[in-house]
Amino acid sequence: MGTPVVLIPGDGIGPGITAATVRILEAAGAEIAWETHLAGLAGVMQHHDPMPQSTLDAIARTGVALKGPLETPVGDGYRSINVALRTTFDLYANVRPAHVILKGGRFEKVDIVLVRENTEGLYVGVEHYIKVGGDPHAAAESVAIITRAGSERIVRFAFDYAVQHGRTHVTLVHKANILKFSQGLFLESGRRVAAEYAGRGITYDEKIVDAMAMNLVLRPEIYDVIVTTNLFGDILSDEISGLVGGLGLAPGANIGSSAAIFEAVHGTAPDLAGKGIANPTALTLAACMMLDHLGDAPRADRIRDALEWTIRAGTVVTHDLGGTASTDAFADAVIARLVT
Ligand code: NAD
Repeated sequence: MGTPVVLIPGDGIGPGITAATVRILEAAGAEIAWETHLAGLAGVMQHHDPMPQSTLDAIARTGVALKGPLETPVGDGYRSINVALRTTFDLYANVRPAHVILKGGRFEKVDIVLVRENTEGLYVGVEHYIKVGGDPHAAAESVAIITRAGSERIVRFAFDYAVQHGRTHVTLVHKANILKFSQGLFLESGRRVAAEYAGRGITYDEKIVDAMAMNLVLRPEIYDVIVTTNLFGDILSDEISGLVGGLGLAPGANIGSSAAIFEAVHGTAPDLAGKGIANPTALTLAACMMLDHLGDAPRADRIRDALEWTIRAGTVVTHDLGGTASTDAFADAVIARLVT
């Protein structure tokens, strides 16, 4: 039987990396009853809908999904299904851990968990063009919505995460020097929550986002848990994944109070789609976060160990890590390590 989990293969490289991830989890003996559902371009092709109701119903019922990347048309076309899923299920916390697996790179000791507010800010989709004279696109306006309730719950999530995972420092990232109202409210709310955690073994500081972007490149090893608003979190998490070996290694979890969706940070990688050479590690690490969430942390640790061992061994790795292995060959190597 196993725990029911919705599996969304996704677009582009999605089906290939989800298949590899499912094989690795099955080889590790994870007891999961996968329910495959479509979304994104695959949803449009089959159901004429990028977010089919049957997929939403299945996530509402199971409360857990593992999702491959979904294509979002740039400019015109449907809005991001990733954003819509986060909003629909109020998945307010986007957790993106990153640590160095492969030694000998630019940094040796990066181990950062970025906690990104996932439902507010500039991603609420409140935007429009302003017509001036004969030009209907003379100007454009996008509204960032920040609430006290949303800010407090994400900062509280970051502190609780730090407490539960034995981490010792939280850095709040903002731009309140310029955006005095929206970012000012985030900062004010964050300070209030940080004060509640005083004396519980977690230190706290604040950084302006531009300085943070530079500090992450200069001294990433000094950061532990970072909490920030939606757009800054999106950008900084890609930067952080670049510090530890690229998007192929970066997992993410979208957590709400009644559902959680696990995915890789990366997208559909159109340049690799159909070639069978994408790195499945990020999605498999996301699946490990899912196993942690489902209370099966020991199995998640075994899979992480096998993944990291295979990557460090370096003989069967995908092209993004300097190898020539296919997605399936890499998964086979991880499975071989798991079962030894
Ligand atoms: P991308 O993350 O798909 O690709 C960026 C670069 O990283 C590419 O060079 C790609 O080859 C490489 N890359 C990504 N994943 C990799 C992997 N697993 N193994 C090896 N290399 C990998 O970003 P993009 O090109 O800006 O976006 C493509 C599409 O994905 C867009 O439609 C975008 O909207 C969508 N997207 C979806 C999600 C999601 O579903 N969560 C996230 C980001 C982007």
